Amino acid sequence: MSTQRESWALQDEALEVLDTSSEHGLGVKTLVARQAGDVVHHFTGLITPELRLHSLQVTDTLHIADTKYIGFLSHACDPNCRLDMSRFELQALRDIDAGGLLTIDYAATEDVLYRQFACQCGASSCRRWITGRAEGANAEGRAYLATLDAS
Ligand SMILES: [Zn+2]
Repeated sequence: MSTQRESWALQDEALEVLDTSSEHGLGVKTLVARQAGDVVHHFTGLITPELRLHSLQVTDTLHIADTKYIGFLSHACDPNCRLDMSRFELQALRDIDAGGLLTIDYAATEDVLYRQFACQCGASSCRRWITGRAEGANAEGRAYLATLDAS
């Protein structure tokens, strides 16, 4: 049992927060290959009613902040990972190579985003402007989408 725990702990730590670019902020990459269905990480943090820049929504009224990795995950409209907010797990949806950037769909957990943003993730299902699941595009987003539609 202790051996299993140790190897699990090692794999759980095989993640690295990186600065993907100043525009997109931070990202998280895996240092080892992951398979679809793998639990990539068990997360902990500070449970708070406050929506913060790097917090993630746990329930209708609570968010988790001060996490080691998951608060820095990049968004993708067709992500390679998902968050299970009842088990506090980051799960791989697809096989991911060592060194691969881990992504989640922010709208899968967040009713409202701390900050809406333009997305150019390249997925055919890309929504182009990312909001929480319970909100529409703000004025900046509507203007941005209108510009795209006009071109
Ligand atoms: Zn996208």
